[in-house]
Amino acid sequence: MTVDDALTGETTELLQTLIRNECVNDGTPESGQETRNADVLTSVLEGAGLDLQVYEPLPGRRSVLTTIEGTDPQAPTLLLMGHTDVVPVSPEEWREDPFGGELIDGEVWGRGAIDMLNLTASMAVAVRELARAGRRRRGTLKYLAVADEEASGTYGADWLTRNHWDDVAADYVLTEFGGVPADLPGGRRLVIATSEKGLAWRRLVVHGTPGHGSMPWAADNALLTTAEVVRRLSAEGLGVRITDAWREFVGAMGLPEEFDEVLLDPGRVREAFDFLDLPTAKYCHAATHTTFSPNVVHGGSKTNVIPDRVELDLDVRTLPGVTGADVDAMLAELLGDLSDRVEVTAPASGREATQSPTDTPLYEALVRRVEAAHPGAEAAPWMNVGATDAAFFRKAGAVAYGAGLFGPATSLQEFSSRFHGHDERVDVESLGLSTQLWLDVVDDLLA
Ligand SMILES: [Zn+2]
Repeated sequence: MTVDDALTGETTELLQTLIRNECVNDGTPESGQETRNADVLTSVLEGAGLDLQVYEPLPGRRSVLTTIEGTDPQAPTLLLMGHTDVVPVSPEEWREDPFGGELIDGEVWGRGAIDMLNLTASMAVAVRELARAGRRRRGTLKYLAVADEEASGTYGADWLTRNHWDDVAADYVLTEFGGVPADLPGGRRLVIATSEKGLAWRRLVVHGTPGHGSMPWAADNALLTTAEVVRRLSAEGLGVRITDAWREFVGAMGLPEEFDEVLLDPGRVREAFDFLDLPTAKYCHAATHTTFSPNVVHGGSKTNVIPDRVELDLDVRTLPGVTGADVDAMLAELLGDLSDRVEVTAPASGREATQSPTDTPLYEALVRRVEAAHPGAEAAPWMNVGATDAAFFRKAGAVAYGAGLFGPATSLQEFSSRFHGHDERVDVESLGLSTQLWLDVVDDLLA
């Protein structure tokens, strides 16, 4: 794969600018202020003669779209989509300024360097390059820089797919993230995200009876009931399920057969975690379980009052095929004898897991390209256990993958630890590879 140094430089510079704009999304409607990054991307693309459409469902929450029309209405439409917001940082834990966008020893440092201003920048540079070159292709290319991915797309992809589907519609969508080298026991694999887990957050309201803190024995203390609920949530086997996506990934890992047997047995899959490195084991757990993580607790009012009410928020992530009703059934079974003291509510609307098939020309193009950049490695379909904007497009009927292309310096283990982590950074080689990937895929798919 030949990478153009000038384009790599353009992507690097654009990424530095996007990081410095500090579009931090803390989940509140007034945060993010993606207008700053949207404006930078607008001027980058307008410079190549492209027209931009602007969407701003709330002041400051701006997304921008540009389209390069194809010549053949029957040919496919490809959307390259990157988000422009980033998650907050704990600056004191960083070795470098998280919003400095500095280039140090071949790496760009800063919040968003991995998630996903790197891809948003490389997509914009590729689209600008295609516009400059001016060659008409059969298929249509769209580029969408979208706000608010980090808070479930409420003012971004969710809103756009519901309110402006005709504008953003595409047969194929590429977004975060894939093309990451993972050194697995069977050899190097390059993961491409073809599916992702769903969200089914739940709030448990645990009831008790108030009383004086001086006489705790036999009291109906809502906090003690909550502790028992939390204990049950950590039970082994809760939510375990072997899905087709997992089968496919296990097949691609190329492990010895006896290992596969363990990984595909819902009763034994946990045994395998002891033999894997910790980041891989964490992933394998999340990919084989609908997970229930008790993350927020509110309760009690005064040290000498036995609490009669505790709220416990669960981050629930569902596997493909698991519905909200299935989640409620799992919780009901788990609560059992406690169910008359615990109310289960859904504080936010959920989304089910989504999946795209791998027998498509786009998937084949991605495989060809990522394998060419890593001789000897094999591409592997992979389930993203987090949530991305791809879900909204899959739900609307598009085929969507998490893509990108990273060099050996950014292994999947490294990548995962920097994702929303301290010292987030990306190597310049990966920026060049990703930029080239988009150009090559456009050549393959849109002809
Ligand atoms: Zn992201």
